[in-house]
Amino acid sequence: MLEQKERASVAIIGGSGIYDLSYISDVKEIKVYTPYGSPSDLISVGRMGNVKVAFLPRHGKNHRIPPHMINYRANIWALKELGVKWVISVSAVGSLRMDYKPGDFVVPDQFIDMTKKREYTFFDGPVVAHVSMADPFCNSLRKRLIEKGNSLGIVVHGQGTYICIEGPRFSTRAESRVWKDSFKADIIGMTAVPEVNLACEAQMCYATLAMVTDYDVFADIPVTAEEVTQVMKRNTENAKKLVMEVIKDLPESPNREDCSCCSSLENALL
Ligand SMILES: [Zn+2]
Repeated sequence: MLEQKERASVAIIGGSGIYDLSYISDVKEIKVYTPYGSPSDLISVGRMGNVKVAFLPRHGKNHRIPPHMINYRANIWALKELGVKWVISVSAVGSLRMDYKPGDFVVPDQFIDMTKKREYTFFDGPVVAHVSMADPFCNSLRKRLIEKGNSLGIVVHGQGTYICIEGPRFSTRAESRVWKDSFKADIIGMTAVPEVNLACEAQMCYATLAMVTDYDVFADIPVTAEEVTQVMKRNTENAKKLVMEVIKDLPESPNREDCSCCSSLENALL
């Protein structure tokens, strides 16, 4: 059992570009053991104002774990073990529409799963559960990210379908056109699934703050790694600021009238 001081009510899963949160004080790095093996890295637990916060770098501290090799089950299990109720996921994405520009943020409300070989559930039997995925992201947490972003003058698009591909390769031109024109997806990335659905199974409120780094290949706009890095650098500061402001106002536990994330298993277990 973890000691009281090693618990947190909010977690940030940092993606590309976000490997630390300088705003967290009294940081203690802890190793959490799970039935699924090791999380991506040690988890930093500390304070942001009065809120106990946990930070986990999704790809490990030195970005050594590619999206398809991340132990998503261990990551979510470890956060649950720490007592986390809210999970803010920060990730870099490509844009599938011209009006979602590099430098903008998107808070997706839907996903399409095009991944191929991941571990998608905690319920491999004998307990069987079919969790509703109609609205996979927590609406209460999404609303907080969108409203706070707007009040800070940061461009945050409040809707979007995130198509998650297996990676680590990017899409072909043909695939990119399918995602955009046939599937009507808005942004593309490699990590939302199964992170979000595992968080649902763990009955945690989960939302993604997606940073648009470039247009996907459909747009045929050549970008250099240098340009992407520049956008990421700028975005990273905005992402940290926005996340910090949202966390300051989060209640310790979600209000059941605002969302039903914490009761997602009520009608799911067979
Ligand atoms: Zn929720």
